[in-house]
Amino acid sequence: MIDSLFTLYCEECEVAGRPSRLWVRAEIELSSARGPETQHYIECMNCGFHFKSCMEDHMEAVDEDEWRRCVEESPETSGLRSPVS
Ligand SMILES: [Zn+2]
Repeated sequence: MIDSLFTLYCEECEVAGRPSRLWVRAEIELSSARGPETQHYIECMNCGFHFKSCMEDHMEAVDEDEWRRCVEESPETSGLRSPVS
C-alpha cells in the first residue's frame, strides 16, 4: 500500500542526486471544478524546498508568503506529522 504522496520527490534533490525527504506540513481542503481536493503543503527536509501538491503527480513551488499564510499561521498544523500509512 503506497500513499500517493510517497511517489512525489523533491526536484532540487533529484537533480542533485540526493534522496528526497518530504515532510507534509499542512493539508488544505480546496473546492475545485472537479470537486473537493486536498492540497498538501510539503517541505523537503534535505534542502528546505517548499512545494504543494494537489493532483497526485502534480506539484508546484510555494512562495514564502503563501507558505507562511497556509502553513506557519495555521493553528491546525501544529500536530500534523508525516502521513500515516
Ligand atoms: Zn530537496
